[in-house]
Amino acid sequence: MNPALESLLADADLCVKCGLCSPHCPTYRQTADENESPRGRIALIQGWATGRLSLTAALRGPLDDCLLCRNCEAVCPAKVPYSRLVDRFRAETGQRRKPLAARALSSAVRKGLRHPTLAKLGRRMLDVAGHLPAGAAWKSLPPSGNPESWYGDHPAAGDPLAHAGLFLGCTAAVADAATVTAILGLLPRLGVGLSVPRNQVCCGAMDLHAGDAATAHALMSRNIEVFGERPLDAVIGFASGCSATLLEYRCHSETRAAETLSSKVQDVSRFLADRIPEERWDLAPLEARILVHHPCSLRNVCKTESSVETLLRRIPGAEVKTLPVKGRCCGAAGSYMIEHRRMAEAIRTETVDAILAQSPDYLVTSNIGCALHLRAGLQGRADIPVIHPVQLLARLQRV
Ligand code: SF4
Ligand code: SF4
Repeated sequence: MNPALESLLADADLCVKCGLCSPHCPTYRQTADENESPRGRIALIQGWATGRLSLTAALRGPLDDCLLCRNCEAVCPAKVPYSRLVDRFRAETGQRRKPLAARALSSAVRKGLRHPTLAKLGRRMLDVAGHLPAGAAWKSLPPSGNPESWYGDHPAAGDPLAHAGLFLGCTAAVADAATVTAILGLLPRLGVGLSVPRNQVCCGAMDLHAGDAATAHALMSRNIEVFGERPLDAVIGFASGCSATLLEYRCHSETRAAETLSSKVQDVSRFLADRIPEERWDLAPLEARILVHHPCSLRNVCKTESSVETLLRRIPGAEVKTLPVKGRCCGAAGSYMIEHRRMAEAIRTETVDAILAQSPDYLVTSNIGCALHLRAGLQGRADIPVIHPVQLLARLQRV
């Protein structure tokens, strides 16, 4: 057996088939189909890797339906490295037995987001595509931004506390310019200088999860090089999906540079909660109910979700509450909401209902994919702004 399959099987064989993960799996909750559960998927991988099952569309389907939310990993008593297992399966099988339309869509999304010109063109097409289905995330895209105005150094005002690199990710200009503007406006005022390297690229998550490990690793190497060139106290991410991937670069490369970068990565809320002393905050009061959504990547990989509430509770007058479906996936999962739209929207229903039941004045979430998906789900049902927590803090900070 080839070494890649051996290590795949070694991971899969850690599963004791207890099924404790199944109730936490969004696709299993939707379908009640064992093949759509973590345990079922692991069994399919074992069957394929040992040659007992062929790679058919029926085997591949449930493995492509997985959102890689990692809810199963978070509760697994046997510590099965589930996401590594699925990423390796997808890398070994590539695009084989995947429907042509799904292959084309996956490739178009990944290539489009990696190339700014294509992304801008795609963005324009979506802006005018009034006939696209209601409820789709692309219907809720906010105004786009100009990265040229972000690149370079943004020195700290006053007494400097730290100097950090800012990781933009491939969706910032197309879909999350407001968060970049908020970070570039707020952090220097709090005493944090920022460097925004021009040559940074996509974190590689989309390619990794689509089975294109070679492209993912090339993107990772580029970011390791770009951020490694600078003396930085931290590397800040603001889309928790990207932060989670950067944190795990050390799992994909054994180099010291990868370890150094991963050790410096912090999601922006964690960075602010840890590094900014009380006396630097001067937030205007806000009499509002703020509901906090925790993206799976922030919860299951970064494990820093409580920092968001810690920060928001600094706002005088604000009532901060965590979304009661804590621990559930909203269905966004990066490009999943585009490539598996029906399942993504079905999974979202529970989260949207829970938001509506709370009637918040704001919904905050730390991942742009979740924000777009939830914003689209709320469209036509309630007028609740869905924003990144740092946008709210930047608006309220008075100095
Ligand atoms: S990663 Fe999420 S969708 Fe995939 S099997 Fe685990 S819980 Fe289910
Ligand atoms: S909880 Fe872990 S060991 Fe149990 S079935 Fe799920 S993946 Fe396997």
